[in-house]
Amino acid sequence: MTRPALDSKTLARRIAEFLDLLEARWHHEGNPPDLAHPEPLDGLILTVLSQHTNDRNRDAAFARLKERYPAWEEVAAAGYEAVEDAIRPAGLAPTKGKRILEILNVVQRDFGRYSIASLARRGRDEARKYLLSLPGVGEKTAACVLLFDMGLSAFPVDTHIARVCQRVGFVPQGTPPEDICALLEREVDPARYLGGHVNIIEHGRSVCKAHKPLCPSCSAAGLCSFAANGPK
Ligand code: SF4
Repeated sequence: MTRPALDSKTLARRIAEFLDLLEARWHHEGNPPDLAHPEPLDGLILTVLSQHTNDRNRDAAFARLKERYPAWEEVAAAGYEAVEDAIRPAGLAPTKGKRILEILNVVQRDFGRYSIASLARRGRDEARKYLLSLPGVGEKTAACVLLFDMGLSAFPVDTHIARVCQRVGFVPQGTPPEDICALLEREVDPARYLGGHVNIIEHGRSVCKAHKPLCPSCSAAGLCSFAANGPK
């Protein structure tokens, strides 16, 4: 694992200061979004659909799937070609359709029903281990389901969070997302995970953009290594 350059206490303080600045700008800790699904399996399938596409396409595919097959039993019975057709707006439909049916099959086998609601009671680490064992489920997908749908303390790291954390200097360039996730879960107060996660994403989309970060208008520039030293 890539080691952070700062000692843990200093790093935790810097991240907290950064989150304070982002909260002052974006306010998602004070107004956390309610993204949870009553059934976490819905959140899991939605997150599978979100891979390599935008929120609009993801939501269109999920709505189309649920409209055609309201219950997961019906999706499982519909078969591969029908599922692939229903989720086409999300892109990569052949791969995602296969994954969705594999996941439903494993969940039914393990829980005796199309539900993973009881998984939250096993706690974060066990729930994460189970989610990661499912076909096509990686660290980001697992962390999203833990945080948004199970109310457990996970800090998903997407492309925006990875980029921002590297630029600000919390981790070296090239640090894998799973290492950034482990660092954030170690150094950030769990009460800040949800709002902090959404604040960083909004900052990454609106200010710390991939191709042209808007450093002169960034409220966190005083803490940022990229703003002080430029790209490394
Ligand atoms: S100062 Fe620039 S690089 Fe640093 S967080 Fe802000 S926008 Fe991103």
